[in-house]
Amino acid sequence: MTSLDDLPIRDDLRGREPYGAPQLEVPVALNTNENPYPPSERLVKALGEAVADVAGSLNRYPDRDAVALREDLAAFLNEDTPGAGLTSRQVWAANGSNEIIQQILQAFGGPGRAAMGFEPSYSMHPIITRVSGTRWIDAHRDEDFGLEPARAVAAIEEHRPDVVFLTSPNNPTGTALPLESIEAVLAAAPGMVVVDEAYAEFRRAGTPSALTLLPGNPRLIVTRTMSKAFAMAGTRLGYLAADPAVVDALLLVRLPYHLSAVTQAVARTALAHGAELLGTVDRLRRERDDLVGWLRGEGFTVADSDANFVLFGRFPDRGRIWRGLLDRGVLIREVGPPEWLRVSVGTAEEMAAFRTAMKESV
Ligand code: PMP
Repeated sequence: MTSLDDLPIRDDLRGREPYGAPQLEVPVALNTNENPYPPSERLVKALGEAVADVAGSLNRYPDRDAVALREDLAAFLNEDTPGAGLTSRQVWAANGSNEIIQQILQAFGGPGRAAMGFEPSYSMHPIITRVSGTRWIDAHRDEDFGLEPARAVAAIEEHRPDVVFLTSPNNPTGTALPLESIEAVLAAAPGMVVVDEAYAEFRRAGTPSALTLLPGNPRLIVTRTMSKAFAMAGTRLGYLAADPAVVDALLLVRLPYHLSAVTQAVARTALAHGAELLGTVDRLRRERDDLVGWLRGEGFTVADSDANFVLFGRFPDRGRIWRGLLDRGVLIREVGPPEWLRVSVGTAEEMAAFRTAMKESV
């Protein structure tokens, strides 16, 4: 049998592991930070009609620049962050924010260039960075998972990275960054600064979005996704807001017609039902805060969370707890620093199942 090692694969890919969040069929899946609420019957009907509308012209390529979708996304962001004042020229969309990140690295990274992040953070940042031929530099988060501006600035000045990734709220810790940290990084960074806001809609009251920093900062990119709060992970739609010149740069690397007509139609329909889809966010936030309280009450250490998941510990053998939960039908994620586990926020029933399984597993 031929193995990977027998193939003339790129030297720098040899021995690498693919992204591997286990996809298991379980009664309670709390492992990939999805929104647990499926689309309503009304939305399912609207999505079906939107797909039927484009089905008759699938012999033609879709709008290569996804203009109508980008207009809808800009309108959504302007509602989410009053004062953002974004136009569709400042918004770009792709198949998940992972593809957005890949396009950013294709345009601003590459051989001979470096990207910096602060781990523990989203595991795909280093993976996409390396696959794009870019060198990865991990400058670490602080002990409390925050990012002390002076230390971040010192790391940037030492390494002069072409791209800096900040994740806020951070995955897997849930930590949101104050704007001062982002501003300090922007002032020090010689290249692009990407603020990955995949979980922004879950942020607590008073936690600002980096979108407010876009005016006057053409090297800032804020990425978002419809996979989390928007409950559309299956659609694969991620997007960014930045200076129009950044969008011009990404046009150089994107594949023509990368966003299918079906994706564009489904995403626009979901955005038109945005109030309904985002209607679950407050419920999930409350469920998250209850979960944090419960875990602390049980004596666990819990990181403050502005997202729809919670990092908790500390377990000398976290694998045993993870397995104990799985044996009881509850799948969470063994991710982040050793001794910690991450659980996504689900429905009230799912969280009750998690609490019962935890009591039986520790
Ligand atoms: N950024 C962060 C911080 C994430 O946690 C994720 C998904 N886990 C993504 C980006 C990618 O999401 P998607 O490609 O579904 O938009």
